[in-house]
Amino acid sequence: MSRKPPFPVVDSPYLVPDDGSFRVARSRTAPPKGAADDEAQKALLKQHVEALDDLQKILYAHDRHSVLLVFQAMDAAGKDSTIRAVLTGINPAGCEVHSFKRPTPKELDHDFLWRATQKLPERGRIGVFNRSYYEEVLVVKVHPEWIGAQRLPPGRHPKRFWKHRYESIRDHERHLARNGTVILKFWLHVSREEQRRRFLSRLDEPEKNWKFEAADVAERQHWDAYMDAYEDALNATSRDHAPWYAIPADSKPYMRATVAGIIVERLRQLDLHYPTVDPEAAARYVALRKQLVEE
Ligand code: ATP
Ligand code: MG
Repeated sequence: MSRKPPFPVVDSPYLVPDDGSFRVARSRTAPPKGAADDEAQKALLKQHVEALDDLQKILYAHDRHSVLLVFQAMDAAGKDSTIRAVLTGINPAGCEVHSFKRPTPKELDHDFLWRATQKLPERGRIGVFNRSYYEEVLVVKVHPEWIGAQRLPPGRHPKRFWKHRYESIRDHERHLARNGTVILKFWLHVSREEQRRRFLSRLDEPEKNWKFEAADVAERQHWDAYMDAYEDALNATSRDHAPWYAIPADSKPYMRATVAGIIVERLRQLDLHYPTVDPEAAARYVALRKQLVEE
């Protein structure tokens, strides 16, 4: 007897497997040889965005699933513009984007999943996390000196600390998936050299100056530590119910079309449909229609 797997996964060369074998060093930052050119990628993105708009309407009417899209990346990889590109065209009432910055004192008074939990999408909606609780195993792992501010109880074993955080995240995501949230996670993998070029253009082009942040250049010095943290986090948390995709981010048109394509395919797998009307209600509608026509 063949049964549909509970959490079907969209296959892709960028899918992070669940067996711990993902290596940043082998993960592409540039599109593969033979990939279609930028114009073709833009046309493809347009098609995906149109499909997404239709799927979102049915997702809303179907009212069984919510969709959570998590975006993580190094600075200047293009999170904001990818989110914008993929969600243009979708009814703004059907989707919400939340950005997570350094936690506030109130947020630090709670467990590390608390602030994101409150921003989870309702059934029928698409929620986007621009950064997320994954910062807790990325930037915080690179800067363990910040853990003190979280005032956790004493007696933590340093080795087990990160394992336990991954475990919390896996459990949390499994819980959400069982309750109808479709989770897709994207790491926009930009190369160090491309980030350098983008920072330089922020400094060189006056209209991009506002995007430049001196702190980002300092963070860049921790590149290798970040790559290690990404590798560990993606290996520990890419599962069928919440897969990670490591998307080449050095070419924006390729990255945006690839992300949009994965989202569209996953929503198509959901087998969404408009709710059907039962015969009794249908009979009532006929009577009501008659009443309106004769009014
Ligand atoms: P942009 O720079 O494109 O506007 P951004 O996402 O980089 O977008 P910023 O305000 O520059 O936004 O940065 C947010 C900062 O907050 C990042 O450096 C991120 O690592 C940090 N941050 C987010 N969550 C946490 C967390 N839980 N603990 C510590 N730092 C965090
Ligand atoms: Mg920033």
